[in-house]
Amino acid sequence: MAKLQIEAVELQNRSVLVRLDLNAPLKRGSVDEEPGVADDSRLRAALPTVKRISNAGGIAILMSHLGRPGGTIKNELSLRPIARKLSELLGQPVTFVPALVGETARQAVSDAAPGDVILLENTRFYPGETTNDSELADQLAELADIFVNDAFGTAHRAHASTEGVARRMQTSAMGMLMDKEVNNLSRLLSAPEKPFIGILGGAKVSDKIALIEQLLLRVDFLLIGGAMAYTFLKAQGHEIGNSMVETDFLDMAENLLAAAADRLILPVDHVTSTSFNNDVGSNVSDVDIKPGEMGLDIGPETRKIFREHIFQAHTLVWNGPMGVFEMSNFSAGTLAVASAIAEVTDNGAFTVVGGGDSVAAVRGAGLADRISHVSTGGGAMLEFLEGKILPGIDALSDVNV
Ligand code: ADP
Ligand code: MG
Repeated sequence: MAKLQIEAVELQNRSVLVRLDLNAPLKRGSVDEEPGVADDSRLRAALPTVKRISNAGGIAILMSHLGRPGGTIKNELSLRPIARKLSELLGQPVTFVPALVGETARQAVSDAAPGDVILLENTRFYPGETTNDSELADQLAELADIFVNDAFGTAHRAHASTEGVARRMQTSAMGMLMDKEVNNLSRLLSAPEKPFIGILGGAKVSDKIALIEQLLLRVDFLLIGGAMAYTFLKAQGHEIGNSMVETDFLDMAENLLAAAADRLILPVDHVTSTSFNNDVGSNVSDVDIKPGEMGLDIGPETRKIFREHIFQAHTLVWNGPMGVFEMSNFSAGTLAVASAIAEVTDNGAFTVVGGGDSVAAVRGAGLADRISHVSTGGGAMLEFLEGKILPGIDALSDVNV
């Protein structure tokens, strides 16, 4: 069984309700101007599916969440500025509708002609969205003939606009971005070309334990940096000073090290500081960190070791920065890893980067175009790679292949 894809659906003269991830950061406008879009990459990622529907003579009825309004109307989280930007990127009008369901939404849909694009209001203005309320899902399902889910970033949540509506429609298909995400991420799970290198970092081990366990089943080496490395180093008996540590996970780290020590590559040195601050200077420490210091980035020798492993890869996945990359004193490790991944991609490796902060680091360094696949999913990508079934995908129509 596979999931129905939008390419296989007749769209002409059909109304198509599309769940997108248009959750783009906004920037404030001048006094009487509405806010603008600070980063339009999520909007650009949504264009292929919208264009396909419009070009095929369907009516594209778009919906998305934006921020966390918590089930109430927050004017500053209206999708109106998103509609304006989307219209600019599409090169055609996008009619903004100040409601998601009900008479206003129904009227807007019935006023639309084939080829038109309309954008409904923030799904999370409605308390029934995140509770997957059946009444809200019913109302959404009444709006259109066909449902398309193209919001990979929320596919791990069973919400009314993702899972609930999909189950209620006769035809629920995967959009083009969702399809691209699933294809690329599946390449990491089924027969990845070896050597396969995994790189994990970021703030917490606890967020990523299931992923560490799953990756260890598949990778040749797993490089661990970021704050999570200190839980492993402490479990090995190293001094970690005031570095971040999750004491509840020391036993688990010890078990993982016992099972896979030769494949888990940990930092051998660090960039440290006496406080979580870019203005008090930084030091380089060997593997044991002095009391009073905290590890905030991988050190120069570790950068070298990590880069050498990365250059061996034919397949690679990276999630989580190697240090506090937001501060210039502690960004070198993350940048070294990002540029090594770009180089190995240039040489033909298949590489995937995901996670909000990791992707921000790659984009900030101008390297996104030199990575095979930059995932639009943070949590969704992690759960996919953990082997979990994502409810937003599971609810789509099955087809025989
Ligand atoms: P992603 O969003 O890519 O999944 P995470 O959210 O897990 O990544 O982690 C990113 C955060 O981890 C960043 O804000 C970064 O500053 C922080 N971080 C990385 N290394 C350290 C460290 N050594 N000490 C404290 N925080 C760290
Ligand atoms: Mg993050």
